[in-house]
Amino acid sequence: MHAIVFYEHGGPEKLQYASVPEPVVGPHEALIEVKAVALNHLDLWVRQGIPGLKLAMPHIGGSDVAGVVAAVGEEVDETWVGRRVVINPSLGCGRCEQCLAGQQCLCVRFGVFGEHTPGGLAEYAVAPATNLYPIPDDFGFAEAAAVPLVYQTAWRALIGQARLRAGERVLIIGAGGGVASAAIQIARLAGAYVYAVTSTPEKERRAIELGADETINYRAVDFSKELWRRTGKRGVDVVLENVGPATWAGSVRSLAKGGRLVTFGATTGRFAETDLNLLFWNQISLIGSTMANDAEFRAVMDLVFRRRLRPVVDRVMPLREGAAAQRLLEAGEQFGKIVLEP
Ligand code: ZN
Repeated sequence: MHAIVFYEHGGPEKLQYASVPEPVVGPHEALIEVKAVALNHLDLWVRQGIPGLKLAMPHIGGSDVAGVVAAVGEEVDETWVGRRVVINPSLGCGRCEQCLAGQQCLCVRFGVFGEHTPGGLAEYAVAPATNLYPIPDDFGFAEAAAVPLVYQTAWRALIGQARLRAGERVLIIGAGGGVASAAIQIARLAGAYVYAVTSTPEKERRAIELGADETINYRAVDFSKELWRRTGKRGVDVVLENVGPATWAGSVRSLAKGGRLVTFGATTGRFAETDLNLLFWNQISLIGSTMANDAEFRAVMDLVFRRRLRPVVDRVMPLREGAAAQRLLEAGEQFGKIVLEP
């Protein structure tokens, strides 16, 4: 089969569109004929190399897959064959106390499909059958592939971890990103008042289209000062952050008393300074979040499939242009997901 692979870590020039053996299906797994695979920033981190993450080479990335079940292992219900599915990229071990309590994303051996295992930037992929989720007939593969990773991340961060409630004010940083564009819609659906911070007038316009009540262009103004002004020196109840040092201090300053900052990434670096006076005096909570448990995944997928939340696809490209697609994502000019089709 054809796949986008890399033999060593580095830039997009390390990616090759190569012919590799089809993956072998284990007893509890399914073989998926990939119809669409969406890129995530995670693909760029994995390609560049993550400290402590040792990969078997060549590695195939790609965490967000939609396709058709082509075959199943001997322990899997055969009625899956021929069904249209997405793969839930959250991989729990299925045996530890967290997995047994339904908290797969807190599994001590937690992994992500396409990061800790071969992924879906290929014509075929294998995944545990427990991670298959059916796609309704009226839902396209490219749209479906745009959903699993970013929607579950946004859902757990805002609803599961920050416990966002109707009537609260929420600030979403970096509105062009896949999680942020999901988060704007989820926050709106939850009844919150949504401020979106982004970098261009075009991205501000798109954020409003998705449901943001107000936008702030961080290149034009200091976003935390602007937010302080717009909220009558009150601040917001929840900040959703994944940028890290470049925005961290502003994100903390933007919080109202009793506010919660939830972070799911560190795009500009791993270390940031926090003003401890603000932390205790304003009684702020700093919360981490990653991926989602199975119940959260199902809850958010059902809202998407019922068209209460909509996938945001920037563009669809052929799989063989995987390197060019990753360059586009790295440049950050897209709004929503870049999807590849084998
Ligand atoms: Zn586990």
